Amino acid sequence: MSEDGIIEVPPSILAEELLVVAGSKPDFERFKQSKYILDVPKKEMLLKCGRQTSKSSTLCMSMILDARLTAGFRQGYIAPTAKTSQAFSILRFSDALLNSSAIWPHFYAPGKSNKFVIDNVGLKKFENNSVVIFLYADSDPDRIRGYTFDRIIFDEIQDIDLDEVEPVVEACIMNSAYREKLFAGTPKSLDNAIETLWQGSTQAEWAVKCEGCGKYNIFVSTKTIGKNGPICANCGKSIDTRNGIFVPAYPNKPIDGYHISRTALPLYMYDQSAWQDIVRLLDNPLWSKEKFDNEILGISSGAGLKLITEQDLIDISTYDCDPYDIKSLSLPGEKFIGIDWGGTDYSNKVENVQSQTALVVYNLIDSHLNICYYTIFQGMGPLDILHSIQHIITTIRPLSVAADAGGGKVENAELLKTCFANKTKFYPIQWGSFDKVFQWNKIDKYLADKTTIFDSFFFTILDKNLIRLPNKNTKQIIAEFLAEHAETSSSASGKKIWKRVPNKTDDLLHASVFGWVGFKMAKGDFVLYNNASLAN
Ligand SMILES: [Zn+2]
Repeated sequence: MSEDGIIEVPPSILAEELLVVAGSKPDFERFKQSKYILDVPKKEMLLKCGRQTSKSSTLCMSMILDARLTAGFRQGYIAPTAKTSQAFSILRFSDALLNSSAIWPHFYAPGKSNKFVIDNVGLKKFENNSVVIFLYADSDPDRIRGYTFDRIIFDEIQDIDLDEVEPVVEACIMNSAYREKLFAGTPKSLDNAIETLWQGSTQAEWAVKCEGCGKYNIFVSTKTIGKNGPICANCGKSIDTRNGIFVPAYPNKPIDGYHISRTALPLYMYDQSAWQDIVRLLDNPLWSKEKFDNEILGISSGAGLKLITEQDLIDISTYDCDPYDIKSLSLPGEKFIGIDWGGTDYSNKVENVQSQTALVVYNLIDSHLNICYYTIFQGMGPLDILHSIQHIITTIRPLSVAADAGGGKVENAELLKTCFANKTKFYPIQWGSFDKVFQWNKIDKYLADKTTIFDSFFFTILDKNLIRLPNKNTKQIIAEFLAEHAETSSSASGKKIWKRVPNKTDDLLHASVFGWVGFKMAKGDFVLYNNASLAN
């Protein structure tokens, strides 16, 4: 009961009264986990779900109730692709609004000509001034910049590059009194960010007591999958998933994490043929163990893809120089600099991994592009770092400097002046997911398709003819070169996406890729793409 004596009705009861989602009233008997999730307070929440566990319906109900109950509440829904975002908006959200006529009065009226109400695929503004905006961002957060939200809903989080997107999202909710975040997705490899989020969460599992042996079962393996329904992993007796409750493993962790395995849904207490579908998938040769773990059990499994190995990097560590020695800056040959600006790192709060400013210097000798110097600026303020870099540029007068445009807007403006004074070409570059591999945005930076550029960089290393590493002090740079792995997006495009392995730093890799792109640009050697697209 609230202070003014009004009884607060649990959101799940309101959902049952008011909402029609996916063509029917919410069925919390079959999807009991959804009821829990709707009713707990939700500052920061993670839903780690198998496929077909009613995740989308739950998100949809939660979003509509929030918009209906709190006037002026601003929600942002973010999916990895435009298609996913539109599909959710049209097939889930709009559909539920249209069918849930009980919520309409003074909130939503289809086709009503009220200039204060907006009913688009990308934006819903209701009569109570609540707003829901549907966005997308796999690795390029530009589309989100500048919005203010009270609540952000990340869907299909496993395909979003949180390293790039999360800092921008933080800025979007900074001025809100609510600052709510909901992450939802289906697990992938153990290296995926959804697993990192899960490790930093309360890790609540659906726990069901066995009436036979008295032990509690959770749904994280195939041991609870019996021929005719869920069974006790200990004694093999049938268990009733309707009697489950969420039990957190780490109640004090900052994110409320809930795991929903398909096998834990009470739905299968009613639907024997649906259970048989799961049993059959266990023996289906087209379903790998990883796929079954991810999509049925809703647990992370397996590893991401890496193109290069430690041995590949050792093989190219043949250039005789010490990259930690400042004198290496005066080695002969044309120079090319790459800079990755440090900044707020998404993982900071979870695992305390800091993203720092990294600088890599290449020299070109006998058609070998050698990394001759590299550094990570530690314990220095942003201005000191900038001055150090400006000093290096003025001293060695490189042919090009290429830097991260996403994290260093102010710094890049200053570097541009320094480069201009030294006749050095300057390329501010922003990674993202773009149709064109590389293009000038006609304002202030180049937009580069991260997948293609990183693929090309790794293939250049594998080729072993161009890029060389120093023959000493390579431990750190080799570790950081191996700190990115690729996963295939589960969206229709199936695009491969390079991401940092959680808990590892990759700033030197990024600085090296920037420096290499700058080299190719300065030498007019960009064979990755059609030069005609480079109009600037
Ligand atoms: Zn038992």
